[in-house]
Amino acid sequence: MTLRLVVGAATDVGRVRGHNEDAYLVDDQLGLVAVADGMGGHQAGEVASATALEALRAAVSSGDGVRDAVTAANDAVFEKSTSDDRLRGMGTTLTVGTLAAGGTLLLGHVGDSRAYLLHDGGLRRVTVDHSLVEELIQAGEITEEEAESDPRRSMITRALGIEPNVDVDLYPLQVASRDRLLLCSDGLTGMVREAEIQTVLRDEPDPTRAAQQLIEAANAAGGVDNITVLVVDVVDDEDATASVPIVGPEPPVEDSAPALVDAPADATDAAAGRRRRRGWRVLVWVLPVVVVLGVAVGVLFWYARDTYFVGNDHGTVAIYRGRPGGVLIWDPTLEQRTHLRTSRLPADQRQSVLAGHGQFSSLSDAQAFVRRLQREATPTTTTTTSTTTTAPPVTAPPSTAPAVP
Ligand code: MN
Repeated sequence: MTLRLVVGAATDVGRVRGHNEDAYLVDDQLGLVAVADGMGGHQAGEVASATALEALRAAVSSGDGVRDAVTAANDAVFEKSTSDDRLRGMGTTLTVGTLAAGGTLLLGHVGDSRAYLLHDGGLRRVTVDHSLVEELIQAGEITEEEAESDPRRSMITRALGIEPNVDVDLYPLQVASRDRLLLCSDGLTGMVREAEIQTVLRDEPDPTRAAQQLIEAANAAGGVDNITVLVVDVVDDEDATASVPIVGPEPPVEDSAPALVDAPADATDAAAGRRRRRGWRVLVWVLPVVVVLGVAVGVLFWYARDTYFVGNDHGTVAIYRGRPGGVLIWDPTLEQRTHLRTSRLPADQRQSVLAGHGQFSSLSDAQAFVRRLQREATPTTTTTTSTTTTAPPVTAPPSTAPAVP
């Protein structure tokens, strides 16, 4: 038995986006197929997906197993993103399949692109999305149906190239002649229901035409994202009665595909990893923005509130916290009243206090200024000179301050 892959591939920008950040890789010699959905501003997404596929191909061709090859792709994207400011923060999904000896097709997977297997006419999704809505489904917080229209659908919780290390999900599949695999970006699965995908894959024997039909279906449904589809037929060259037409971009390879050996997937480990990550890896794209906004608000708040001034409160001198007139939503607040009538101040100081005098870094600095005002104030007719000059500032908390005529 000599299995090989016959691939029909298509990618399309869709009907909304300006450029296509998806990419795919088909290498017949290596028995290697992959889909990558890049993301990042200013065309960095295109760089991310292309860089990942290039590094993946190089690693597999030098003998790496799937997990190591995906790790090498992560290294390549991360390195490029951290060494070029214009590419900072870029990332990509990566779903890759390699055909190994003995009819094992090993899938490696990071992100929300998907792999499906069509076997005996039945379609089964193989990969689990690393997306926020998938985690909400698994946690029982929303249903599959609700997820289809959830505005957070495109938020992924794991991507290649974002961090120095990446967790790779591995799925070993035992495949046979006439099995058909679908690798696709979320531009297909976000627009076309699985039942319709299944119909196309079952009814169109030519893999290239099947891929094109799926792209047309996604565009007919709106085409809001880039769409990439690989229809991968498993073909046995020694199966003379094979009804699957052999249509591929390259002539048949006579030798068997190179044996790609990889460690077996540890399913329980992967499940535990998913649970661990649920808490902190959510929203890798949103978190930095939230942090920057938080710091900006904090600095503004500090600027608005970390100062005192002396002003006028209904005809008496008072100490306020904040800045005269306020800053954005933060108005100054009355911190302390005094019994000093504003009208008793010399003319220039009265003007200054009415406008809000000084930026004192502490309450006691402001109180010291009030004591100075008290010394310079003209005595009232009912107060003797001695008490005016020696009395400490009379202060009281706002709620209990008695009105002094
Ligand atoms: Mn996409």
